[in-house]
Amino acid sequence: MRIADVHRSSAVLAVAAVFLVMTCFAAAQEVRPGSGKDLRPTGKHQGVAEANAPSAREINEPNDAPPSRDANRLRPRTNGISWHGGPVMHGTVPIYFIWYGNWANNTATSLLPTLISDLNGSSYEHINTTYYDSTAHVAGAMALQGQANDNYSQGTSLSDASIETIVANHCQALGGCDSSGIYFVLTSEDVDETSGFCTQYCGWHTDGTISGKDIKYAFVGNAARCLSACAEQSTSPNNNAGADAMASIIAHESEEAISDPDLNAWYDSRGNENADKCAWTFGNMSTASNGSLYNFTGASGTRWLIQRNWVNASGGYCAMSY
Ligand SMILES: [Zn+2]
Repeated sequence: MRIADVHRSSAVLAVAAVFLVMTCFAAAQEVRPGSGKDLRPTGKHQGVAEANAPSAREINEPNDAPPSRDANRLRPRTNGISWHGGPVMHGTVPIYFIWYGNWANNTATSLLPTLISDLNGSSYEHINTTYYDSTAHVAGAMALQGQANDNYSQGTSLSDASIETIVANHCQALGGCDSSGIYFVLTSEDVDETSGFCTQYCGWHTDGTISGKDIKYAFVGNAARCLSACAEQSTSPNNNAGADAMASIIAHESEEAISDPDLNAWYDSRGNENADKCAWTFGNMSTASNGSLYNFTGASGTRWLIQRNWVNASGGYCAMSY
């Protein structure tokens, strides 16, 4: 099943949206389809739908109109995703990691920073340059600008509000609460995010007002907590299945945060953001000597298995490079 299901426009959702819009606001990386129970791959929770609910205007787009004799003449060329007027993130996007909980002796702390430098300027990240706003196109560049550790300040059972609190507690020391960056809260294996980590989603991104600024942030938990739901494979390219799975989620969430930072820029008529349209698809894969699969080798020489992203060109398609 596809995550799109939860975003599917319907009268019920449209009505529900009115009531949910105040409290639910994130866009999520759903759990792996077919894993564990027959979990419906959903957005983080039902509220996701309303955050990205198609507007009346979008529902009435020619794309959604029944075919007619004049369809070819009336229908504008589209790439399966459209701009809704909001900003994208420009230039080299600063990334901040907040390592929450216990990450001692976990190679994730070296792997995931390497991921950011590997994504930066890559042909994979170049896919995101097909997204733009009234000012400029996405640059396809990112750089890790700061990291912090948080020793369980909010305990081991976190809520969505806890995640924002963690960001708020650290962002001043990390770029002065940088509204042009993305703050990732990365939680250790023993930490839960009770709104649905491992059951409804593997990660999510959103924005919130912190210190009077619009701060973009994301949650990505250690997939080692639930490899069957949040990892594509249990033997991974860098011999750390949890961290390697997080890499895929981080790639996904960063692409979405950059092309749809305030949840009002790029998404399709079902509310799917760019990476959602290619979630849990990997294209051509190679097999490493330890038997794991990978589909991307970064400038560092590190191998990764990361989800494809949606190219906003040539009619739209999932790809690993552009
Ligand atoms: Zn997503």
